[in-house]
Amino acid sequence: MKSYKIIVIGSGFGGQCAAINLLKKGINDFCILERRNFMGGTWCQNSYPGAAVDVQSPLYSFSFEPYNWSQMFAAQDELEEYTNFVIDKYKLREKTFLNTNVEKLEWLKDEKKWLIHTDKETFKSQFIINSSGPLSTPFYPNFKGKDSFKGETFHTNNWNPNFNLKGKKVAVIGSGASAAQVIPAIVDEVKELNVFQRTPHWVMHRPDKIFTKFQRKLLKRRWIYNLVRYYTYWSLESRVIAFKYSDFLLKIFAKNKAVKHINKSLKNRADLIEKVTPDYTIGCKRIILSNTLYPAFAKENSHLFTREEQIAEITETGIITTKGTKVDLDLIVYATGYDATDSVISYPIIGKNNMFVGSFWSEFPRAYLGTTLPNFPNLFILTGPNTGIGHTSAIFVIESQMHYILDSINAVDKNNAQAIEVTARAEDKYTTFIHSEMEKTVWKRGNCTSWYQSKSGHVIAMFPGFTFTYLKMAKNFKIKDHNLIK
Ligand SMILES: Cc1cc2nc3c(=O)[nH]c(=O)nc-3n(C[C@H](O)[C@H](O)[C@H](O)COP(=O)(O)OP(=O)(O)OC[C@H]3O[C@@H](n4cnc5c(N)ncnc54)[C@H](O)[C@@H]3O)c2cc1C
Repeated sequence: MKSYKIIVIGSGFGGQCAAINLLKKGINDFCILERRNFMGGTWCQNSYPGAAVDVQSPLYSFSFEPYNWSQMFAAQDELEEYTNFVIDKYKLREKTFLNTNVEKLEWLKDEKKWLIHTDKETFKSQFIINSSGPLSTPFYPNFKGKDSFKGETFHTNNWNPNFNLKGKKVAVIGSGASAAQVIPAIVDEVKELNVFQRTPHWVMHRPDKIFTKFQRKLLKRRWIYNLVRYYTYWSLESRVIAFKYSDFLLKIFAKNKAVKHINKSLKNRADLIEKVTPDYTIGCKRIILSNTLYPAFAKENSHLFTREEQIAEITETGIITTKGTKVDLDLIVYATGYDATDSVISYPIIGKNNMFVGSFWSEFPRAYLGTTLPNFPNLFILTGPNTGIGHTSAIFVIESQMHYILDSINAVDKNNAQAIEVTARAEDKYTTFIHSEMEKTVWKRGNCTSWYQSKSGHVIAMFPGFTFTYLKMAKNFKIKDHNLIK
């Protein structure tokens, strides 16, 4: 059985960040387990037409690895290039087992180690850094007759590049961030585009910009890159004031602009304006940045179905709506998101005292700093409960979490201990604090349902505050909140 000090699960930006930080600390005794036959996570997997980042690239990149981006909001192919550049630069391929799906983790109480069951072999390690990704396992709603459709079907997460869209009748189910990117990207190619929207999202102008040769040259200078990064960070961070503290600011700086964006993009289309205007507070669901979505809805070959006429059934040849309309189709695209809330981790984890993570999370997922759980020693979850952010870069939070994880590992080594475990009291205090802060946010009181919420109604995807507050907490390692196990 292969044994390591640390096993990192997943090779997306989370897994890469963990691995690079370990290498920088001189820790070599680790490996990465990746279920797919390639490394890289999100940006190597999501290759649907129009896929791109929604956060300015100089910020949506590792702080320690600037890049010569060609545009402000990089498209998927450039993000894939960046991902592979990072993986190659730090020689992470040689640390990785591909095609290795983690199926179960088990804490061995006598050895004080984790046993990692995969579909290939079993591994053992002292520490686990789980970076299996919050948006990694696609979600398919269970429509009546779903499997009977004889045409082509795929999820945006699993796009078939060999399917020729030209002249085809297509349905896109969903209206979230991926749908908003794929719809304008394919509308001109297909014969007919039918979009099934359950709830409209608020959409704002996307301030994209192709960098000139000169600007790219400037970006190669580290101090200029950092300046752009800092400017972007602080301008995005200021949005938290509105999300958390001020409906008035949300109205002035977001809603009014979004309403203007709708009216300007859909002039003379009162029918569409009504269909795309949300009835909940802006910010409650992720705000979409797009200059092309509304014009795509207005195209002659495009038809927008709303809550008033939903999918009743999927048949061999297409979709029948609740009003009895029969929509013949060649392709159904599921832009229906991810299993993101109640099953943050898709495999069972059995900790001390035979405790399952699933049982601990039976009401809602929770964790100290969104990272550690009582009864699960030496287990760290990257992008765990309440570490998500809607306004800035997820990579910032991942890098912040690494401070806490490295300090925890260091505490074990320095004290000649074998394991570290957050106390139940500290976790409970943290989680109570998170959810009392959450009450103030638009995600909780914005009158919408979203994937940010768990079935229990708790908002478990988002951190209810500034990311610099999170960073400060993650850097301030408190040994008193933990038990060391010798
Ligand atoms: C389409 C899309 C657009 C996004 N846009 C943005 C954006 O604009 N801004 C932003 O901040 N964030 C965005 N995100 C969120 C994104 O998830 C994070 O930014 C970041 O990429 C997360 O990295 P990760 O390593 O945690 O997860 P991932 O990149 O999802 O990587 C997880 C990896 O773990 C592997 N894995 C999962 N389960 C197992 C298992 N059981 N065994 C072994 N391996 C496993 C997966 O195969 C995958 O490679 C987007 C996500 C998606 C899907």
